[in-house]
Amino acid sequence: MAIVASQFESVRIGSSTRGSWQNQLRTAVRDGAELCRLLQLPEGYETAATRVSREFPVFAPLSYVARMRPGDPHDPLLRQVLPLNDEIDDGGSRDPVADAQSTVVPGMLQKYAGRVLLITTGACAIHCRYCFRRHFPYTEAPRSLAQWLPALRELQTRPDIEEVILSGGDPLTLVDTLITELIAQIEQIPHIRRLRVHTRLPVVIPDRVTSAFIDCLRATRLTPWVVIHANHPAELDDEVAAAITRLIDNGIPVLNQTVLLRGVNDHEDRLVELCRRLVDLRVAPYYLHQLDRVRGALHFEVPLEEGRRLVRGLRERLPGYAVPRYVWEEPGATSKVAIGE
Ligand SMILES: *Cc1c(COP(=O)(O)O)cnc(C)c1O
Ligand code: SF4
Repeated sequence: MAIVASQFESVRIGSSTRGSWQNQLRTAVRDGAELCRLLQLPEGYETAATRVSREFPVFAPLSYVARMRPGDPHDPLLRQVLPLNDEIDDGGSRDPVADAQSTVVPGMLQKYAGRVLLITTGACAIHCRYCFRRHFPYTEAPRSLAQWLPALRELQTRPDIEEVILSGGDPLTLVDTLITELIAQIEQIPHIRRLRVHTRLPVVIPDRVTSAFIDCLRATRLTPWVVIHANHPAELDDEVAAAITRLIDNGIPVLNQTVLLRGVNDHEDRLVELCRRLVDLRVAPYYLHQLDRVRGALHFEVPLEEGRRLVRGLRERLPGYAVPRYVWEEPGATSKVAIGE
């Protein structure tokens, strides 16, 4: 199994309040049938959700579910987390982006020059049905500082690496003390200049953008970049906007990645709205990803020709800096590959 929701059973709440981000993880919906009932979906969805979620369980925090329209099985946020029969036997690959070949030491991937990706944890705050890592062998991923030592040791011997990307899973499912310890280790390696955090948590549970996390990014000598992941303007409600503003007001640049998804954002007006909202919040739309052809996710695929047309539409309607680069991940390529318009 890929990402294990039950890991959160062991999340320590400590002195946190009822509304803390840890508590929001604990109370997340992790049952397909429950999700269908909460949203009052028509009959039939429940059976599929229960059956299909066995391989990749449902996981959706209530604060995210609250942004969905009840009674609408086509809600663009619901589509991202609801298991459908379409996932069964669709002929996709288990490792479409060849992560297995790029593992340098356990928990560390390198595909591109100068930067490596650390799999800090297997846990996510949401289970996105289209995720290219849904079959990743996360049980091998490190979960404590000691387990990151092989990666840290490797980094010391690699003066060509100047940027470390904290990824996963989602690094912000780790508690701030552990993130702070990890960053303290990374910043001791003199040739590392930048720290990038790839996280969907500011969008899914905006309360996760704590002052402790911000302080830790402000305190490090490394230049921080935060890359969030939003696919639809309805994800960016006022609380998410406030979380993003906290980051940016503290001098932390924020970029956004979007996956082009059938039934979620495969519409020019929606993408324009998303990009406009992002730049209004000072977030630069970074990448628009063509779907990785992972098994169980092919029903989300938008054909390249259609994607190109959508991006041409964005370019006609938005300032240049508001148009994301349309890319896909080609196994063996030395960067994300631009999809020409
Ligand atoms: C996508 C990715 C990166 C980041 O690529 P950028 O183009 O720098 O955003 C780095 N490492 C791996 C393994 C990746 O998959
Ligand atoms: S897309 Fe990101 S947040 Fe969603 S399941 Fe995959 S790694 Fe986790």
